[in-house]
Amino acid sequence: MKLALHWKILIGMAMGAAFGLFCAAKGWQGFVSDWIAPWGKIFINMLKLIAVPLIIFSLLKGITDLKDISKLSKMGGKTLALYIISTVIAITVGLLIVNLVKPGKLISEETQTTLMEKYEGDAGQKILAAAGRKEVGPLQPLIDVVPENFLAAASNNRNMLQVIFFVILFGVGMLLVDPKIAEPVRAVVIGMNEVILKIIDLIMLAAPVGVFALLASLVADAPSADLFVALGAYSLCVAGGLGILIFLLYPLVLKAYVGMTPKTFYKGIAPAQLLAFSTSSSAATLPVTMERVTEHLGVDDEVTSFVLPIGATINMDGTSLYQGVAAVFIAQALGYDLGLGQQLTILTTALLASIGSAAVPGAGMVMLVIVLGVIGIPEAGLALIFAMDRPLDMIRTVTNVTGDATVAMIVAKSENKISDPEIKNLGDHYQQAG
Ligand code: ASP
Repeated sequence: MKLALHWKILIGMAMGAAFGLFCAAKGWQGFVSDWIAPWGKIFINMLKLIAVPLIIFSLLKGITDLKDISKLSKMGGKTLALYIISTVIAITVGLLIVNLVKPGKLISEETQTTLMEKYEGDAGQKILAAAGRKEVGPLQPLIDVVPENFLAAASNNRNMLQVIFFVILFGVGMLLVDPKIAEPVRAVVIGMNEVILKIIDLIMLAAPVGVFALLASLVADAPSADLFVALGAYSLCVAGGLGILIFLLYPLVLKAYVGMTPKTFYKGIAPAQLLAFSTSSSAATLPVTMERVTEHLGVDDEVTSFVLPIGATINMDGTSLYQGVAAVFIAQALGYDLGLGQQLTILTTALLASIGSAAVPGAGMVMLVIVLGVIGIPEAGLALIFAMDRPLDMIRTVTNVTGDATVAMIVAKSENKISDPEIKNLGDHYQQAG
């Protein structure tokens, strides 16, 4: 029997979690970290390996497909506007929920102290990591986008924005030179793009095993259950907010504007969501997001190759919602009362912080330090939420990826670059590959 890829991934995740629990109960954490966890790491490395080449060639293809510069700026402006609007909506949803539920008020002092003591070291590292960023001038994020050396930028997956900057420049150059002269470069771009997509198919065949290993090592090392319970209310606020985006906002917008049923959308995007959940990295998930949105949701690759790589880096609805909720939660827990002005500051800072967050696990939490600093909450309060970061990271990454896909579909619809996947049978890429 041939199972669809997302079922295989789900089964891999469930078995991995069960295996991790079993090993935790037996005290086999060492075995898991020596013999199981490396397979998850290898799987993630393979996805990261393909990320820079993918961005370079798919974005170049996307830009040169646009044929003329005016289209590029039109689509670019629309994409950015949608990214900012969706992020602002996400933060607002988060702030409304956390102010209504007030989870921070439920935290007892004892729990606070225990958590602070236990996680001080880890939180301290995050604070250090962010400290460097706080001392820079207001235009530093802009400077950070312009690399001084392309190879240096491309040598680190955290520099995605720099790579994107160069690729856009290169693509614009390609559009401006004589098409006859640019043609061989374009042929290479198209060929490379196809090869890279094929490599992604191959890597995805290993996904069920990869997510088994990822989940097993995550569960085996997880902190004790009562910490999860103590932070339950806060986590429910974040998860509830993210759920509203994933299950209400995006499907509603897609139904209303694109005319796509939620079932079709979820069916198409599910493997990317599950991978986002297991890897906690929208960058690692990007290859699959692109493949799903193009091949299974019917969006022209002219749109996906432009909108999604940028989205993975700057559009983080889930991360920004989380940052809003977490900042207010920490403030509540430490006894600070935040006024409307401070909540608005959280909104703008979380917008910028989510744009600045790298699309890798835990990045949203590093940038949260900046949000806390701006509103004057002690950054050590981060220790309170440290225990819950990874599970929430998993859900917010799903939201980030789903938000990117939604914007890609809206842009595609507005540009008339979408085919109806309910009519056009695009087939299952992975099943063919398998
Ligand atoms: N892990 C998230 C992502 O890659 C970023 C974050 O919120 O930490 O999308």
